[in-house]
Amino acid sequence: MANFKSINPFTGKVLGELAELSQEEIQFKLNKSSEVFQEYRKSDYSFRSERLFKAADLLKSETQEFAEIITNEMGKPITESVSEVLKCAWVCEYYAEKAEGFLKNREVPTDAGLSYVKYEPLGTILAVMPWNFPFWQVFRFAAPALMAGNTVLLKHASNVQYSAQKIEEIFLKAGFENGVFQNLAVKSEAVAAIIKSPVVKAITLTGSEFAGASVAEVAGRNIKKCVLELGGNNAFVVLKDADLSKAVDVALVARLLNAGQSCIAAKRFILEEEIHEEFISLLKEKIQDYKVGDPMQKDTKIGTLSSAQSSESLNIQVQKSIESGAILVCGGQREGAKFEPTILLNVKPGMPAFDEELFGPVFAVSKVKSMEEALQLSNKSEFGLGLNLFTSSKEKAQYFIDNAEEGAVFVNSMVKSDPRLPFGGLKKSGYGRELSEEGIREFVNVKTVYIGG
Ligand code: NAP
Repeated sequence: MANFKSINPFTGKVLGELAELSQEEIQFKLNKSSEVFQEYRKSDYSFRSERLFKAADLLKSETQEFAEIITNEMGKPITESVSEVLKCAWVCEYYAEKAEGFLKNREVPTDAGLSYVKYEPLGTILAVMPWNFPFWQVFRFAAPALMAGNTVLLKHASNVQYSAQKIEEIFLKAGFENGVFQNLAVKSEAVAAIIKSPVVKAITLTGSEFAGASVAEVAGRNIKKCVLELGGNNAFVVLKDADLSKAVDVALVARLLNAGQSCIAAKRFILEEEIHEEFISLLKEKIQDYKVGDPMQKDTKIGTLSSAQSSESLNIQVQKSIESGAILVCGGQREGAKFEPTILLNVKPGMPAFDEELFGPVFAVSKVKSMEEALQLSNKSEFGLGLNLFTSSKEKAQYFIDNAEEGAVFVNSMVKSDPRLPFGGLKKSGYGRELSEEGIREFVNVKTVYIGG
C-alpha cells in the first residue's frame, strides 16, 4: 500500500507516514457519504448551524495546535497559520448565520397560482484541495456546502495529510455525524475513479491548471458539475498619482504573504515610468525586513517554500527570465526550500516571470508609459483572477474596473478573499465562484416549482 510522507520543509525532518486508502476503504466511504446524505439533507438550518458554530469555536480555542500542523507541513510563518485558522472560524460563523437567508425559497410571480424557486442540496461533493492554505481552502468550500445540506469528501494535497486528518476530526468533534465530512487519503491517480462513482454529484478543485483540466475532463465526460479555482498571475498596477508609500507597503504583503505561494498574490508589478525609480528604491529598502527564517518563530516573515523542488522550479523561472533580459536587483538566492525575496526589473511578455505563475517571493516589475499601456499589459495574461490598482483618481480607477479581464478588481488595496464577497476567476484561473451568496449557490439544485391556479 502506498504511503504519504509528510516532510517539514524547514527542517527536512519526516513528520510521519500515513497510509493511503485501499479501494475497499474508498468504496466504504463513498457508500457512507451517500447513506448519511439521505438523513442529513432533511436536517434544518439550525441543526447545521449549531454544528458549524461549534466548529468555529474549536478553531478559535485550539488555534495554536492547528496552526502548528500547518506550519510544520508546509512551512508558512506561524503567525500566518494562526490567521489562517481564525479566518476559517470566520467563514464557518458567516455561513452558519447567513445560509438560511441565502437559500430561502424565492417566490416569482407568474401566471401560476404559486411559483417559486427552491434550493436543494445536490448530495456528495468531492473537494480536491491544494497545500498552500491547507485549512482555509477546505473550510471556505466546506462551510457553505455543509450548510446547504451536502455531504463532503476531501481529497487533500499529498503533503498536507495531517491537516486533512485534523480537519475531519474538527467536523466530527463539532457534532457532524460520521460520514457528513470525510477525508479520503488518496493520491491524485485515484481521483478519476472517484469522480465517476455515481455517489459523487459534483466536484470542486483548487489547484493548478493541469489538475483542474484533468478533473474537469473526467467530470465533463460524466456530466458532473465542477467549480475550478486555479492559478493566477495578478498584476499590481501603480499609476503616477498613487500614494506611493502605501502602495509599497501593500505590495510587500500582497507579494510576500505565504512566501508568495498564493493564487491571488500580486505577481506582475506594472509601474508608470514617473514613479518607477522611487517605488523600487522604497521596495528595496523595506524588503530588508523580510528575513527568511524558522517559520515557528513569531518574528519570521517568510518561512520556506513548500519543498526544495518548488524552490528549484522557481529558481529556473528566475534564471530563464534573467537570460532573456530581466535585471536582478536583489535576492535570487536559494538553499533547499528557502528562497530569498527577489526583485526583477525590465520584465517583459515572453519571459517566464511575466507569462507564468511564479509561486514564490519574486517581484516581476515592468515599466509602462501610460495607464492604457498598464491596462493592456495587465490583461495580457492567460489568467484572470484579480487586479490590484493604486491610483488617487476615481476616473482612472473606473477605467480599470470597466476594462480589466479579471474576477476581481481591488483599488488602493490588495486582492484578498472575504467570506462576504464572491471569489473566483476568468480565463485559465477557472470558473465558478466561492464565498458569499454566489458561493453557496454553486452546489445546490435550483428547483423551479409551479403550482397551477
Ligand atoms: P496541484 O498540484 O494542482 O494540486 C492541487 C490538488 O490537486 C492536490 O490535491 C493534488 O493532489 C491534486 N491533483 C494534482 N494533479 C491531479 C490530477 N491530475 N487529477 C486529480 N487531482 C490532481 O496544485 P498545488 O501545487 O497543490 O497548488 C498550487 C496551485 O494552486 C497554484 O497554481 C495556485 O495558484 C493554485 N491555487 C488556486 C487558488 C484559487 O482559489 N484560485 C487557491 C490556492 C491555490 P496531490 O498533491 O496528491 O498531487
